[in-house]
Amino acid sequence: MLKLKHIFKSYKVGDNVTHALDDVTIAFRDQEFVAILGPSGSGKTTMLNVIGGLDRYDKGDLVINGKSTKNFKEVDWDAYRNNSVGFIFQNYNLIPHLSIIANVELGMNLSGVPKKERHNKAIAALTQVGLKEHINKRPNQLSGGQMQRVAIARAIANDPDILLCDEPTGALDTETSVQIMELIKKLSKDRLIIMVTHNPELAEKYTTRIVNFQDGKIRHDSAPFEPEKEDDNFNLKRTKMSYWNAIKLSFTNIMTKKGRTILTAFASSIGIISIAVVLAISNGFQKQINTTMSKALAKYPISITQTATDMTGDGRTQGIGQERQESWLCNSEEG
Ligand code: ADP
Repeated sequence: MLKLKHIFKSYKVGDNVTHALDDVTIAFRDQEFVAILGPSGSGKTTMLNVIGGLDRYDKGDLVINGKSTKNFKEVDWDAYRNNSVGFIFQNYNLIPHLSIIANVELGMNLSGVPKKERHNKAIAALTQVGLKEHINKRPNQLSGGQMQRVAIARAIANDPDILLCDEPTGALDTETSVQIMELIKKLSKDRLIIMVTHNPELAEKYTTRIVNFQDGKIRHDSAPFEPEKEDDNFNLKRTKMSYWNAIKLSFTNIMTKKGRTILTAFASSIGIISIAVVLAISNGFQKQINTTMSKALAKYPISITQTATDMTGDGRTQGIGQERQESWLCNSEEG
C-alpha cells in the first residue's frame, strides 16, 4: 500500500517559487488503475516523480507498505526504484543502439538480476506485450505503438508492484492508444498502476479511479481509499549492477560509436603528446640554463671578508675590520 501524507514540493527559479504539490494526501490500493487528470502545470508529473522516487518531496511523508521514507538514503531510493517501480514515458526512452531484448534486459541489469534469469524474464515480458518475433530488432525498426510495447515490457519484466505511466499514449494515434490502454488495463490486475493523462475519455473507459489535480492540490477523487490500518510488510531488496556488467555496458556503448571513439582517442593522444613535448622542452631548457650559469659564475670568484661596511656613512666602524682583515677566495674550478 502506497500513501502520500501532506506532501509539499516547490521549485524555486530565481525569485519565483512554484508550489507544484501543495499538501497532497492520498492512499492507493495494491491493485487498481488510477488516472491522474488535470490541466498542464497542475502537479501531475511532479506527484508521479515523487511516488517513483525520481524526485524528493520537501515536506510530508511517502509511506510504502507501512514504511516511512523520511529517512531513506540514496541506496534505499535506488533499491525501491529498481525493484518495486516500473516507469512508462510518453517518448518511450529506449536506447537506440541496443536491440529490443537488450533494452528490456537493461532495466534488470540495474537490479542485479542474473544473466539467464534476465534473458528469460525479458522474453516472457516481450511475449506478454506481443513482440516475441521482434526481439532482435532495434527501436528504429518498430512503429510508435511497438516501441511503447517495448517500454511496457521493460517496465514489467522485473514484476514491479507499482507501474507509473506518464502520458503513455501521448505520442500515439487513437487506434494504437486503445491497444496500449487495453494492455495496461490487463497489467493492472496484479499491481497498482498510476497514469498521468490529458485524455479524460481514455481515463473514463479504462481506469478504475480518477483523481483530478489543480494548482498542486487534489480537487476530486472518484474512489478514495482510506486504509483501516497501515500494513507493515516492507521489504527492500538492495541490489546493484555488477562491475563486470558495468564494464560490458560501457564497452558496448563505446563500440556502437566507433567513429566518435576513434576521434576522441586521437584528440586525447594529441593533447597528451603535446603536454609531454612542452614538459620535455621546458625541462631541457632549465638544465641548459643551469649548466651555462654555473660555467659562467665559476670564472668570477666570490670573496667574503670580515670587514664591516659602514652603511651610515660616519666612518665609525671602518677601523675595526681593517686590523683583522681576512679573506677567502672561493673558486669553484679549484674546488
Ligand atoms: P503537470 O504534469 O500537471 O503538467 P508538473 O508536475 O510537470 O505539471 O509541474 C507543476 C509545476 O511545477 C509547473 O508550474 C512546472 O512549471 C513546475 N515545475 C515542474 N518541474 C520543475 C522543475 N524541475 N523546475 C522548476 N519548476 C518545475
